[in-house]
Amino acid sequence: MSNVVTRFAPSPTGHLHVGGARTALFNWLLARRQGGRFVLRIGDTDALRSTPEFTRDILGALDWLKLDWDGEPVYQSRRLDIHRAYIERLLAQGRAYWCHCRPEDLETRRQAALAAGGKPKYDGRCRDVGLGPAPGAVVRFRGPEEGETGWTDIIKGPVSFAHQELDDLILLRGDNQPTYNLAVVADDIEMGITHIVRGDDHVNNTPRQILLYRALEAPLPKFAHVPMILGADKTRLSKRHGATSVMAYREAGYLPEALINYLARLGWSHGDLEIFSLEEMRDLFDLAQVGRSAGVFNPEKLNWLNAHYIKGTDPATLGDLVWPYLAAKGYARPPEETLAKIMLTVRERGQTLPELAAKADFYFPDLPEMEPAAAAKFLTAENLALLKELRGPLSEPGLTPQAFEELLRGLAAAKGLKLSALAQPLRVALTGRTASPGLFEILEILGPEKTRRRLEAVITPEI
Ligand code: GLU
Repeated sequence: MSNVVTRFAPSPTGHLHVGGARTALFNWLLARRQGGRFVLRIGDTDALRSTPEFTRDILGALDWLKLDWDGEPVYQSRRLDIHRAYIERLLAQGRAYWCHCRPEDLETRRQAALAAGGKPKYDGRCRDVGLGPAPGAVVRFRGPEEGETGWTDIIKGPVSFAHQELDDLILLRGDNQPTYNLAVVADDIEMGITHIVRGDDHVNNTPRQILLYRALEAPLPKFAHVPMILGADKTRLSKRHGATSVMAYREAGYLPEALINYLARLGWSHGDLEIFSLEEMRDLFDLAQVGRSAGVFNPEKLNWLNAHYIKGTDPATLGDLVWPYLAAKGYARPPEETLAKIMLTVRERGQTLPELAAKADFYFPDLPEMEPAAAAKFLTAENLALLKELRGPLSEPGLTPQAFEELLRGLAAAKGLKLSALAQPLRVALTGRTASPGLFEILEILGPEKTRRRLEAVITPEI
C-alpha cells in the first residue's frame, strides 16, 4: 500500500455537479492507481447553506458512479475544535493576530484605498498592535509582505503569486467560525492528504494555504488544479446549458459507466482510445496528462458513449433499468424473460434509457397508439385483406421468429408480392408505426393473443 492519500471535499450547498464528479474521479483514480487511500470530506462548515439533503445527494451520486471512498465520510462541521486548536497554535507562535477592525470600517477604508488608486486589501492596522480576543473580533494570518509563493502544479505547471497580492487572511471569523482556508489546511494536515486535486477555481486559495502549511511546519502536499468544464458557448457549465447535476443525468437515463467514461475523457486522453471502464482508467490514468485548457461539455459525445454502454448491458439488467420509465405509464410488468426479449429488440435503437422505453412502448398496451399517417398509407382495403389472411396463421401458438419469417415469405411468394409489401402493413397494424424492431421478434413477443387482437382491431372496422 502506497502512502498516497487523496480526498474529495465537496460542500453540501448544492447537488453534485458533473465538474465535481470529475474532480472526485481524478482523486479516486490517483489513489486507486497507486494503492493509496481516497477519503471523502464533507465541507459543511457553512451552516446556513449546507443541508443534509445535498449531503445525501452527493453520497448517492458518488455511490451510483461507483467511486468508493475509504473509511467513513468526515464532516468538517464536527471538527471545529481541531480547527480552533490550529488557530491557537498560530496565535501562540505569533503567526496570527487578533484584529478588531469592524466590517463597516474596513469597507470605508477599502473604498478610500480604491479611490486613491491602491489595492482594496486589508491595510494591516491591527497587525502589530498586540490585541486580544473581543466580541466580534477576528483572527488574521500574519502573511509575508514581500516575495512570492509558488508551487509546481501537476496540471498547470509552475504557478506563483506575489505576497503583495495576498491579504492577511482571516482564519477565525467574528462569529467564532474558522474559515474555509484554515479548516481545509487543518483537516488536510490531520488526514495526511498527500495530493490535493480540485477545481481550478481554487488556484487563488492555494498560495494562502501553502503559507499556512509553512507556518505550521507541515509537509506540503502536491497540488493539481483541474480545469473547469464549459458549455458550448465557452462559459462555465451551468444550468443554462442543461442538466449539470450527476443525479439529473441518472434520471435522464444515462448509465454511470457512460458518464464516468465521458468525464474522464473530458480533458484527459490515452492515445486514440475512447472507451474506458473504471478499471482500465485506473490502470492508465495519469494526472500529468490532463490538459490545461477547459473542456467543453459535448452532450452528443456523452449520448454516443451512453448508447455504447447500453448496447453492452445484458438484456435482463437493461430491463430493470428501463422498466421504471414504462411503469410510470401504468403498464403491468411482463415476465422477466419477456422483458429481456423486448430489451434485445430495442437495445441498439436508442441512446438513453427513456429513448429505449419509448421504442418499446408499443409492446405494452392492449392496442398500440396508431400514427395516422402510417395507418392512412398502409392500412388500405387491399392490405387489410392480406392481414385478414394472415390473422389465423399468425395467431397459432408457439411460433418462433424463424417460423414467422417462413410463414410470411411463403404467403408473399404465393401472392407474387415482395416480403415488404406484406411486412409493412403488418408492422403498422402491430406497432402503430412504420419503423420498429424486427417484425418476427415482435410477433413472438406479442404472442398469439395480442397479435390477434391487434389485427382484428384494424380489420374489423373495414368489414
Ligand atoms: N469545498 C470546496 C469545494 O467544493 C473544496 C475545495 C478543496 O478541495 O479544497 O470546492
